Amino acid sequence: MRIGIGYDSHRLVEGRRLIIGGVDIPFEKGLLGHSDGDVLCHAIIDAIIGAMGEGDIGKHFPDTDEKWKGASSIMLLKHIVDLAHSNGFEIQWIDSIVITEKPKIAPHIDEMKKAISKAGISPSIVNIKAKTNEGMGFIGKGEGIAAQAACLLKKT
Ligand code: MG
Repeated sequence: MRIGIGYDSHRLVEGRRLIIGGVDIPFEKGLLGHSDGDVLCHAIIDAIIGAMGEGDIGKHFPDTDEKWKGASSIMLLKHIVDLAHSNGFEIQWIDSIVITEKPKIAPHIDEMKKAISKAGISPSIVNIKAKTNEGMGFIGKGEGIAAQAACLLKKT
């Protein structure tokens, strides 16, 4: 068994769609990023990469590479899930947390699991939790959103 952890944060800005866990969430601001800025997918990607011992998300998807500009993070996640399979790993479990003051994430969790399943990860092995930061720091001030993830891989 291998374990990996992932963390990501992105700045909230006007004029961007808010995409978390592959779901377009209605909100006045969205996450800034080279791709779609999907913090949850990026945290899960880094957790899987970490468990494989393959470096980090920046090594696989450099933000200087035009290929990944505006990319759907579900597609980036699929790329890493496929890599895990071809490296002989099976994803056993993913646990994750989205930390944001606004908007409320909980009502979108089932839809996120469904979107993540398009990357080849069954909803039955994904847990997503929603937390606020109790008004503290950059998350509490609504300047950004963060996510954390843990992944358990088994060598097949
Ligand atoms: Mg990111």
